[in-house]
Amino acid sequence: MALIVQKYGGTSVGTVERIQAVAQRVKKTVEAGNCVVVVVSAMGKTTDGLVKLATEISPSPNRREMDMLLSTGEQVSIALLSMALQEAGQPAISLTGAQVGIITESHHTRARILKIETDRMERHLQRGEVVVVAGFQGVNSTEDWDITTLGRGGSDTSAVALAAALKADFCEIYTDVPGILTADPRLVEDAQLMSEITCDEMLELASLGAKVLHPRAVEIARNYGMPLVVRSSWTDDPGTWVRSPKRQPRPLEGLEIARPVDAVEFDTDQAKVALLRVPDHPGVAARLFGEIASQKLDVDLIIQSIHEGNSNDIAFTVVKNSLTRAEAVANAIIPALTAGHSISPELAPDVMIQQKIAKVTIAGAGMIGRPGVAAQMFSTLADAGINIQMISTSEVKVSCVVDEVDCDRAIATLCEAFEVSQSGMKTQDAIAPTAVAVRGVALDLKQARVAVRHIPDRPGMAAKIFQLLASHNISVDMIIQSQRCRMIDGVMTRDIAFTVAQMDAEGARQALEAARSDIGYGEVVVDSAIAKVSIVGSGMVGQPGIAARMFEALFKKEINIQMIATSEIKVSCVVAEDQGVMALQAIHAAFELAGTQRIQVSA
Ligand code: ASP
Ligand code: MG
Repeated sequence: MALIVQKYGGTSVGTVERIQAVAQRVKKTVEAGNCVVVVVSAMGKTTDGLVKLATEISPSPNRREMDMLLSTGEQVSIALLSMALQEAGQPAISLTGAQVGIITESHHTRARILKIETDRMERHLQRGEVVVVAGFQGVNSTEDWDITTLGRGGSDTSAVALAAALKADFCEIYTDVPGILTADPRLVEDAQLMSEITCDEMLELASLGAKVLHPRAVEIARNYGMPLVVRSSWTDDPGTWVRSPKRQPRPLEGLEIARPVDAVEFDTDQAKVALLRVPDHPGVAARLFGEIASQKLDVDLIIQSIHEGNSNDIAFTVVKNSLTRAEAVANAIIPALTAGHSISPELAPDVMIQQKIAKVTIAGAGMIGRPGVAAQMFSTLADAGINIQMISTSEVKVSCVVDEVDCDRAIATLCEAFEVSQSGMKTQDAIAPTAVAVRGVALDLKQARVAVRHIPDRPGMAAKIFQLLASHNISVDMIIQSQRCRMIDGVMTRDIAFTVAQMDAEGARQALEAARSDIGYGEVVVDSAIAKVSIVGSGMVGQPGIAARMFEALFKKEINIQMIATSEIKVSCVVAEDQGVMALQAIHAAFELAGTQRIQVSA
């Protein structure tokens, strides 16, 4: 006999017939010998309707009242589902978040769960009843009993949190898609259902997967080792398992950790190769990393910064004992890159290496949607006088390459700043390897690129820039710092480029323009016509040639790569917006992710 938490989304309980169908499925699960706790969302688009009502009365409704309003949608569904279960002969009881004892922070409309009482639910389960819990809601305390909500899409989070608190065997998320797909099926016709994915991969695919699964739900599943499955409400198909390695038991107090960072990682076995002033045209990255791969050298970080004039810098790291060979490969391709052009020596491509470097990384799902985390990392390092040589970011990580001698200090000061008690973990030990190199491909068309030119090259500059953006509540996605320094009016300078949501681009530009003379940098350039394509897969760790295959696929379509950034399990490229879909399709095909079955999803 298993204890199962099942969650049904809004479409799955959208009509009376559908609620009855859900009741049948729940009843079948009980009859198979299981105890079941059901979490439901509001019916159909109820929550959207409630939001609309509120905004008709006030342009910025009071958040406490907003929670009072929005939480009613789920209360309708739990009562109706309980009735349907009872009508089908299955004893059941509905409970609100307050009745269960779901205690959250007081941040109305985006509260995090602090703790869940399980006594009452257990009592009902022992009596053979199905417990039907309202998703998306809790209360701020047992003094005020003020209703809070977890943020839109939050009932996934309620379900996984309940599963963790009850120590359920697993949690099933029933939705209107068959599971998690290798790409958006509206853009890639032959996108395929994944049979499984790890929580870490799912988090890196946040921009693709968030519509299917709330990232905070994935975070809880990962932290508590709770197996999750995403399945269709309409079929008996197995869906996609979202797995994480078994974890040490972890206290249930502060269930959704309020901290944005939950680990500081490091890797001292890396060395850096930078190729400076390579021509900005399709095929350069494909050629370089193709050669590197054919030498069986495994590349970790790759960054390519925006071009200045018409050349790029590409920098990457390899394990230290591969440095000599990687350097040789880089030197060997230079003649081919400049063949047929006469270039003056100071503009010619060049290779620069650095052996004594270390990579320090902050990791945590809590940084999604929270501006200021990267800035805090940069300022923490700056305050310790540590210079940042390379920056690379993904959804749930920020990595900085620093001088090797600074590594221990960097770890210590970052652990302190982010209140991480475990003192630094080897990056390699933090990743659960899988056999699949590339799990899925994501496309984000809603970003813009901002480049800040000629930033004085001294500690603290990146911190200032990203603090400024954070203070305007602007979340930054990819951040890339150029390799090359340029002397401007006697000062060594570097460029930093990053991506933000398109709707934040103008705000970012204005904020940066306003602070320009204060902080002291050159031009600020915004380009909204970009697309970001990413591949994600834990199996790419230690497997040479994965990034090369992605670059090659782009090259074959003559797509120019404007920026590259990587984390251990992800490679992202920025390309021109009008080439985004083509890039997605080409990469999906290059990794042979296509399935034979057409997957239907509603728009
Ligand atoms: N009903 C809430 C919403 O629409 C919560 C959820 O469905 O997960 O955002
Ligand atoms: Mg949802």
